[in-house]
Amino acid sequence: MRDLRKQDFAPTLLDFGPVQFYIARHFGFCYGVENAIEISYKALEENKGRNVYLLSQMIHNQEVNADLASRGIKFIMDTDGTQFISWEKIGKDDVVIIPAFGTTIEIENLLLDKGVEVQKYNTTCPFVEKVWNRAEKLGTDNYTIVIHGKPKHEETRATFSHSAAKGHSVVVRDMEEAQRLANYVTGGKTKSEFFEEFTGNYSAGFDPERHLQRIGVVNQTTMLATETQAIADFFRQVMITKYGDADLRNHFADTRDTLCYATNDNQDATYELLKLDADLAVVVGGYNSSNTSHIVDLCEQNFQTFFINSDSEIKSREEIHHFDYHKKERKVTYEFLSQKQPLKIILTSGASCPDTLVDRVMIRFLEFYPAAKPVEEILKEFAQT
Ligand code: SF4
Repeated sequence: MRDLRKQDFAPTLLDFGPVQFYIARHFGFCYGVENAIEISYKALEENKGRNVYLLSQMIHNQEVNADLASRGIKFIMDTDGTQFISWEKIGKDDVVIIPAFGTTIEIENLLLDKGVEVQKYNTTCPFVEKVWNRAEKLGTDNYTIVIHGKPKHEETRATFSHSAAKGHSVVVRDMEEAQRLANYVTGGKTKSEFFEEFTGNYSAGFDPERHLQRIGVVNQTTMLATETQAIADFFRQVMITKYGDADLRNHFADTRDTLCYATNDNQDATYELLKLDADLAVVVGGYNSSNTSHIVDLCEQNFQTFFINSDSEIKSREEIHHFDYHKKERKVTYEFLSQKQPLKIILTSGASCPDTLVDRVMIRFLEFYPAAKPVEEILKEFAQT
Protein backbone atom coordinates (compact mmCIF):
# COMPACT_ATOMS: atom_id res chain seq x y z
CA MET A 1 0.00 0.00 0.00
CA ARG A 2 2.83 2.40 0.82
CA ASP A 3 4.49 4.16 -2.06
CA LEU A 4 8.17 3.36 -1.72
CA ARG A 5 9.09 6.84 -2.87
CA LYS A 6 7.28 8.12 0.18
CA GLN A 7 10.01 6.74 2.41
CA ASP A 8 12.09 9.82 1.66
CA PHE A 9 11.00 12.59 4.00
CA ALA A 10 13.59 15.22 3.04
CA PRO A 11 12.02 18.56 2.03
CA THR A 12 12.30 20.07 -1.44
CA LEU A 13 14.12 23.37 -1.83
CA LEU A 14 12.74 25.85 -4.38
CA ASP A 15 15.36 28.58 -4.62
CA PHE A 16 14.00 31.74 -6.23
CA GLY A 17 17.04 33.85 -5.27
CA PRO A 18 15.89 36.45 -2.73
CA VAL A 19 13.38 33.99 -1.29
CA GLN A 20 13.66 30.25 -0.81
CA PHE A 21 10.88 27.80 -0.04
CA TYR A 22 11.35 24.53 1.73
CA ILE A 23 8.39 22.42 0.77
CA ALA A 24 7.51 19.43 2.94
CA ARG A 25 8.01 16.11 1.14
CA HIS A 26 4.50 15.06 2.06
CA PHE A 27 1.63 17.43 2.47
CA GLY A 28 -1.92 17.96 1.35
CA PHE A 29 -4.75 15.65 0.38
CA CYS A 30 -4.71 12.14 1.71
CA TYR A 31 -6.36 9.13 0.08
CA GLY A 32 -9.46 9.36 2.28
CA VAL A 33 -10.17 13.00 1.53
CA GLU A 34 -9.49 12.70 -2.20
CA ASN A 35 -11.81 9.71 -2.42
CA ALA A 36 -14.54 11.46 -0.43
CA ILE A 37 -14.43 14.55 -2.62
CA GLU A 38 -14.56 12.48 -5.80
CA ILE A 39 -17.57 10.54 -4.55
CA SER A 40 -19.35 13.75 -3.51
CA TYR A 41 -19.08 15.21 -7.01
CA LYS A 42 -20.20 11.88 -8.43
CA ALA A 43 -23.22 11.85 -6.11
CA LEU A 44 -24.19 15.33 -7.33
CA GLU A 45 -23.78 14.26 -10.94
CA GLU A 46 -25.83 11.09 -10.52
CA ASN A 47 -28.66 12.64 -8.56
CA LYS A 48 -29.75 15.75 -10.37
CA GLY A 49 -33.05 17.03 -9.01
CA ARG A 50 -32.70 15.19 -5.70
CA ASN A 51 -31.62 16.54 -2.34
CA VAL A 52 -27.98 15.65 -1.80
CA TYR A 53 -26.86 15.98 1.80
CA LEU A 54 -23.50 15.67 3.41
CA LEU A 55 -23.63 14.46 6.97
CA SER A 56 -21.06 17.05 7.97
CA GLN A 57 -18.38 19.16 6.36
CA MET A 58 -16.70 16.76 3.99
CA ILE A 59 -13.24 17.89 4.83
CA HIS A 60 -11.96 20.68 6.96
CA ASN A 61 -11.45 22.98 4.05
CA GLN A 62 -13.57 26.04 3.51
CA GLU A 63 -13.01 26.33 -0.24
CA VAL A 64 -13.89 22.74 -1.08
CA ASN A 65 -16.95 22.86 1.17
CA ALA A 66 -18.03 26.17 -0.36
CA ASP A 67 -17.66 24.74 -3.87
CA LEU A 68 -19.72 21.67 -2.97
CA ALA A 69 -22.36 23.91 -1.39
CA SER A 70 -22.50 26.10 -4.49
CA ARG A 71 -23.26 22.99 -6.55
CA GLY A 72 -26.20 22.17 -4.32
CA ILE A 73 -24.85 20.00 -1.51
CA LYS A 74 -26.43 20.72 1.87
CA PHE A 75 -24.62 20.09 5.14
CA ILE A 76 -26.69 18.37 7.83
CA MET A 77 -24.41 19.37 10.71
CA ASP A 78 -21.17 21.06 11.51
CA THR A 79 -18.04 19.25 12.63
CA ASP A 80 -19.01 19.40 16.30
CA GLY A 81 -22.37 17.79 15.65
CA THR A 82 -24.51 20.94 15.79
CA GLN A 83 -27.48 20.29 13.54
CA PHE A 84 -28.21 22.63 10.60
CA ILE A 85 -30.99 20.53 9.07
CA SER A 86 -33.34 18.52 11.25
CA TRP A 87 -33.64 14.77 10.68
CA GLU A 88 -37.39 15.18 9.98
CA LYS A 89 -36.53 16.96 6.76
CA ILE A 90 -34.60 13.98 5.42
CA GLY A 91 -36.49 11.21 3.67
CA LYS A 92 -35.91 8.03 1.73
CA ASP A 93 -35.60 9.76 -1.62
CA ASP A 94 -32.74 11.91 -0.43
CA VAL A 95 -29.08 11.16 -0.90
CA VAL A 96 -26.86 11.29 2.18
CA ILE A 97 -23.09 11.14 1.85
CA ILE A 98 -21.15 9.79 4.81
CA PRO A 99 -17.88 11.75 5.13
CA ALA A 100 -14.35 10.33 5.26
CA PHE A 101 -14.41 10.42 9.07
CA GLY A 102 -17.35 8.00 9.10
CA THR A 103 -20.34 8.34 11.37
CA THR A 104 -21.85 6.89 14.51
CA ILE A 105 -23.88 3.68 14.51
CA GLU A 106 -26.81 5.71 15.90
CA ILE A 107 -26.86 8.10 12.93
CA GLU A 108 -26.37 5.29 10.45
CA ASN A 109 -29.33 3.43 11.95
CA LEU A 110 -31.45 6.56 11.99
CA LEU A 111 -30.85 7.02 8.25
CA LEU A 112 -31.41 3.34 7.50
CA ASP A 113 -34.72 3.50 9.38
CA LYS A 114 -35.75 6.33 7.08
CA GLY A 115 -34.93 4.15 4.08
CA VAL A 116 -31.89 6.21 3.00
CA GLU A 117 -29.35 4.17 1.02
CA VAL A 118 -26.49 4.88 3.40
CA GLN A 119 -23.93 2.58 1.82
CA LYS A 120 -24.26 3.99 -1.69
CA TYR A 121 -22.24 7.12 -0.94
CA ASN A 122 -20.41 6.05 2.16
CA THR A 123 -16.95 7.58 1.91
CA THR A 124 -15.68 6.39 5.30
CA CYS A 125 -11.93 6.12 4.91
CA PRO A 126 -10.57 2.56 5.10
CA PHE A 127 -7.94 3.77 7.57
CA VAL A 128 -10.67 4.97 9.90
CA GLU A 129 -12.46 1.63 9.47
CA LYS A 130 -9.22 -0.10 10.35
CA VAL A 131 -9.28 1.69 13.70
CA TRP A 132 -12.90 0.66 14.24
CA ASN A 133 -12.04 -2.95 13.46
CA ARG A 134 -9.16 -2.84 15.86
CA ALA A 135 -11.32 -1.26 18.57
CA GLU A 136 -14.04 -3.87 18.01
CA LYS A 137 -11.47 -6.66 18.27
CA LEU A 138 -10.18 -5.19 21.54
CA GLY A 139 -13.74 -5.06 22.86
CA THR A 140 -14.41 -8.65 21.80
CA ASP A 141 -11.22 -9.69 23.60
CA ASN A 142 -12.53 -7.99 26.69
CA TYR A 143 -10.12 -5.06 26.69
CA THR A 144 -11.38 -1.55 27.43
CA ILE A 145 -10.67 0.78 24.54
CA VAL A 146 -8.88 4.02 25.32
CA ILE A 147 -9.41 6.36 22.38
CA HIS A 148 -6.85 9.13 21.96
CA GLY A 149 -8.87 11.83 20.22
CA LYS A 150 -10.71 15.10 20.49
CA PRO A 151 -14.02 14.16 22.12
CA LYS A 152 -16.13 16.44 19.90
CA HIS A 153 -14.42 15.63 16.61
CA GLU A 154 -16.72 13.68 14.30
CA GLU A 155 -14.16 10.94 13.71
CA THR A 156 -13.70 10.39 17.44
CA ARG A 157 -17.47 10.38 17.99
CA ALA A 158 -17.80 7.78 15.23
CA THR A 159 -14.94 5.66 16.57
CA PHE A 160 -16.35 5.89 20.09
CA SER A 161 -19.74 4.73 18.87
CA HIS A 162 -18.30 1.71 17.03
CA SER A 163 -15.98 0.82 19.85
CA ALA A 164 -18.60 1.25 22.59
CA ALA A 165 -20.85 -1.18 20.72
CA LYS A 166 -18.29 -3.92 21.36
CA GLY A 167 -16.49 -2.95 24.55
CA HIS A 168 -16.13 -0.40 27.31
CA SER A 169 -14.59 2.75 25.93
CA VAL A 170 -13.17 6.03 27.18
CA VAL A 171 -11.77 9.04 25.32
CA VAL A 172 -8.61 10.90 26.35
CA ARG A 173 -7.68 14.11 24.59
CA ASP A 174 -3.98 14.19 25.41
CA MET A 175 -1.22 12.90 27.66
CA GLU A 176 -2.44 15.01 30.55
CA GLU A 177 -5.85 13.33 30.42
CA ALA A 178 -4.20 9.94 30.01
CA GLN A 179 -2.26 10.60 33.21
CA ARG A 180 -5.48 11.56 34.96
CA LEU A 181 -7.13 8.35 33.73
CA ALA A 182 -4.18 6.36 35.08
CA ASN A 183 -5.16 7.51 38.59
CA TYR A 184 -8.17 5.23 38.26
CA VAL A 185 -6.04 2.31 37.09
CA THR A 186 -3.87 2.61 40.16
CA GLY A 187 -6.83 3.30 42.46
CA GLY A 188 -5.53 6.76 43.40
CA LYS A 189 -8.93 8.34 42.83
CA THR A 190 -12.53 7.41 43.46
CA LYS A 191 -15.29 6.25 41.13
CA SER A 192 -17.34 9.40 41.63
CA GLU A 193 -14.34 11.55 40.76
CA PHE A 194 -14.03 9.59 37.51
CA PHE A 195 -17.64 10.21 36.52
CA GLU A 196 -17.16 13.90 37.11
CA GLU A 197 -13.78 14.15 35.42
CA PHE A 198 -14.65 12.13 32.33
CA THR A 199 -18.27 13.21 31.90
CA GLY A 200 -19.57 12.45 28.43
CA ASN A 201 -16.40 10.60 27.45
CA TYR A 202 -17.06 7.06 28.65
CA SER A 203 -19.43 4.34 27.50
CA ALA A 204 -22.67 3.41 29.26
CA GLY A 205 -22.15 1.22 32.32
CA PHE A 206 -18.47 2.10 32.62
CA ASP A 207 -17.07 1.16 35.99
CA PRO A 208 -13.54 2.53 36.48
CA GLU A 209 -12.85 -0.02 39.22
CA ARG A 210 -13.57 -2.96 36.92
CA HIS A 211 -13.03 -1.68 33.39
CA LEU A 212 -9.51 -0.33 33.61
CA GLN A 213 -7.80 -3.64 34.32
CA ARG A 214 -7.31 -4.58 30.65
CA ILE A 215 -6.84 -1.78 28.12
CA GLY A 216 -5.74 -1.06 24.55
CA VAL A 217 -5.17 2.32 22.91
CA VAL A 218 -6.46 3.42 19.49
CA ASN A 219 -6.58 6.94 18.07
CA GLN A 220 -8.38 9.49 16.01
CA THR A 221 -6.25 9.04 12.91
CA THR A 222 -5.27 12.69 12.69
CA MET A 223 -3.83 13.01 16.20
CA LEU A 224 -0.12 13.48 16.65
CA ALA A 225 1.22 9.97 16.09
CA THR A 226 4.05 10.46 18.55
CA GLU A 227 1.57 11.52 21.24
CA THR A 228 -0.59 8.43 20.66
CA GLN A 229 2.53 6.31 20.91
CA ALA A 230 3.60 8.11 24.09
CA ILE A 231 0.15 7.54 25.61
CA ALA A 232 0.23 3.84 24.71
CA ASP A 233 3.77 3.53 26.15
CA PHE A 234 2.63 5.34 29.27
CA PHE A 235 -0.29 2.96 29.90
CA ARG A 236 1.97 0.01 29.16
CA GLN A 237 4.26 1.19 31.95
CA VAL A 238 1.33 1.83 34.30
CA MET A 239 0.19 -1.77 33.77
CA ILE A 240 3.70 -3.16 34.29
CA THR A 241 3.97 -1.22 37.54
CA LYS A 242 0.62 -2.50 38.71
CA TYR A 243 0.62 -6.10 37.45
CA GLY A 244 4.26 -6.90 36.65
CA ASP A 245 5.98 -7.57 33.34
CA ALA A 246 5.09 -11.25 33.12
CA ASP A 247 1.35 -10.59 33.14
CA LEU A 248 1.44 -7.59 30.80
CA ARG A 249 -0.43 -9.16 27.87
CA ASN A 250 -3.34 -9.81 30.14
CA HIS A 251 -3.64 -6.10 30.91
CA PHE A 252 -2.35 -4.24 27.91
CA ALA A 253 -2.92 -4.85 24.18
CA ASP A 254 -0.33 -3.67 21.66
CA THR A 255 -2.09 -1.53 19.03
CA ARG A 256 0.84 0.03 17.23
CA ASP A 257 -0.60 -0.58 13.75
CA THR A 258 -3.66 1.68 13.78
CA LEU A 259 -2.01 4.96 12.76
CA CYS A 260 -3.02 6.34 9.37
CA TYR A 261 -0.23 6.41 6.77
CA ALA A 262 -1.11 9.93 5.54
CA THR A 263 -1.03 11.49 8.97
CA ASN A 264 2.19 9.65 9.71
CA ASP A 265 3.86 10.70 6.47
CA ASN A 266 2.82 14.34 6.82
CA GLN A 267 4.05 14.40 10.40
CA ASP A 268 7.33 12.62 9.56
CA ALA A 269 7.91 15.11 6.74
CA THR A 270 7.32 17.92 9.26
CA TYR A 271 9.93 16.48 11.62
CA GLU A 272 12.41 16.77 8.73
CA LEU A 273 11.44 20.44 8.30
CA LEU A 274 12.28 21.05 11.95
CA LYS A 275 15.94 20.29 11.20
CA LEU A 276 16.16 23.26 8.83
CA ASP A 277 17.55 26.68 9.50
CA ALA A 278 14.54 28.67 8.24
CA ASP A 279 13.16 32.12 9.03
CA LEU A 280 9.48 31.31 9.26
CA ALA A 281 6.96 28.58 8.56
CA VAL A 282 3.61 28.82 6.80
CA VAL A 283 1.09 26.03 7.26
CA VAL A 284 -1.96 26.04 5.00
CA GLY A 285 -5.19 24.36 6.05
CA GLY A 286 -8.69 24.72 7.45
CA TYR A 287 -8.85 26.36 10.87
CA ASN A 288 -10.91 23.45 12.22
CA SER A 289 -8.56 20.81 10.80
CA SER A 290 -7.13 18.56 13.47
CA ASN A 291 -4.21 17.17 11.47
CA THR A 292 -3.19 20.67 10.31
CA SER A 293 -3.16 21.93 13.89
CA HIS A 294 -0.67 19.20 14.79
CA ILE A 295 1.63 20.24 11.95
CA VAL A 296 1.37 23.83 13.22
CA ASP A 297 2.22 22.59 16.68
CA LEU A 298 5.37 20.90 15.44
CA CYS A 299 6.50 23.89 13.36
CA GLU A 300 5.96 26.22 16.30
CA GLN A 301 8.60 24.32 18.23
CA ASN A 302 11.32 25.82 16.02
CA PHE A 303 9.93 28.63 13.88
CA GLN A 304 7.66 31.62 13.91
CA THR A 305 4.66 29.90 12.33
CA PHE A 306 1.66 31.29 10.48
CA PHE A 307 -1.40 29.06 10.13
CA ILE A 308 -3.45 30.38 7.19
CA ASN A 309 -6.39 28.92 5.30
CA SER A 310 -5.62 30.54 1.95
CA ASP A 311 -3.40 32.98 0.08
CA SER A 312 -6.00 35.70 0.70
CA GLU A 313 -4.84 35.85 4.32
CA ILE A 314 -1.58 37.42 3.12
CA LYS A 315 -2.87 40.96 2.82
CA SER A 316 0.42 42.62 1.87
CA ARG A 317 4.13 42.35 2.42
CA GLU A 318 3.53 43.93 5.81
CA GLU A 319 0.33 42.22 6.96
CA ILE A 320 -0.76 38.63 7.41
CA HIS A 321 -3.99 37.34 8.96
CA HIS A 322 -3.62 33.96 10.61
CA PHE A 323 -5.11 31.64 13.18
CA ASP A 324 -3.98 30.97 16.71
CA TYR A 325 -5.44 27.51 17.17
CA HIS A 326 -4.41 27.33 20.84
CA LYS A 327 -6.65 30.31 21.60
CA LYS A 328 -9.02 29.57 18.71
CA GLU A 329 -8.81 33.13 17.47
CA ARG A 330 -7.76 35.00 14.37
CA LYS A 331 -4.76 37.26 14.60
CA VAL A 332 -3.10 39.94 12.54
CA THR A 333 0.68 40.23 12.42
CA TYR A 334 2.43 43.20 10.83
CA GLU A 335 5.88 43.25 9.33
CA PHE A 336 6.07 39.50 9.35
CA LEU A 337 8.64 39.31 6.54
CA SER A 338 12.12 40.41 7.47
CA GLN A 339 14.33 42.19 4.94
CA LYS A 340 16.85 39.36 5.11
CA GLN A 341 17.83 37.80 1.80
CA PRO A 342 17.52 35.07 0.95
CA LEU A 343 14.54 34.65 3.21
CA LYS A 344 13.92 30.98 3.96
CA ILE A 345 10.26 30.02 4.23
CA ILE A 346 8.96 26.61 5.18
CA LEU A 347 5.72 25.78 3.38
CA THR A 348 3.43 22.86 4.06
CA SER A 349 -0.25 21.97 4.46
CA GLY A 350 -2.66 19.60 6.14
CA ALA A 351 -4.38 16.50 4.75
CA SER A 352 -7.54 18.38 3.77
CA CYS A 353 -5.88 21.18 1.82
CA PRO A 354 -5.86 21.13 -2.00
CA ASP A 355 -2.32 21.40 -3.40
CA THR A 356 -3.34 24.37 -5.54
CA LEU A 357 -3.76 26.41 -2.35
CA VAL A 358 -0.12 25.79 -1.47
CA ASP A 359 0.86 26.92 -4.99
CA ARG A 360 -1.21 30.05 -4.58
CA VAL A 361 0.42 30.88 -1.25
CA MET A 362 3.88 30.52 -2.78
CA ILE A 363 2.93 32.69 -5.75
CA ARG A 364 1.51 35.32 -3.40
CA PHE A 365 4.84 35.50 -1.55
CA LEU A 366 6.74 35.75 -4.82
CA GLU A 367 4.81 38.95 -5.66
CA PHE A 368 6.83 40.65 -2.90
CA TYR A 369 10.14 39.72 -4.57
CA PRO A 370 10.26 41.32 -8.03
CA ALA A 371 13.83 40.07 -8.46
CA ALA A 372 12.80 36.45 -7.87
CA LYS A 373 13.49 33.99 -10.68
CA PRO A 374 10.37 33.01 -12.66
CA VAL A 375 8.41 30.01 -11.39
CA GLU A 376 8.77 28.17 -14.73
CA GLU A 377 12.55 28.43 -14.54
CA ILE A 378 12.71 27.01 -11.03
CA LEU A 379 10.29 24.21 -11.78
CA LYS A 380 12.23 23.37 -14.97
CA GLU A 381 15.48 23.17 -13.01
CA PHE A 382 13.70 21.09 -10.44
CA ALA A 383 12.26 18.71 -13.03
CA GLN A 384 15.74 18.14 -14.47
CA THR A 385 17.30 17.17 -11.14
S1 SF4 B 1 -6.15 11.39 7.36
FE1 SF4 B 1 -5.85 9.16 7.05
S2 SF4 B 1 -7.60 8.21 8.04
FE2 SF4 B 1 -8.12 10.37 7.79
S3 SF4 B 1 -9.21 10.46 5.85
FE3 SF4 B 1 -7.06 10.81 5.40
S4 SF4 B 1 -6.20 8.78 4.85
FE4 SF4 B 1 -8.14 8.49 5.91
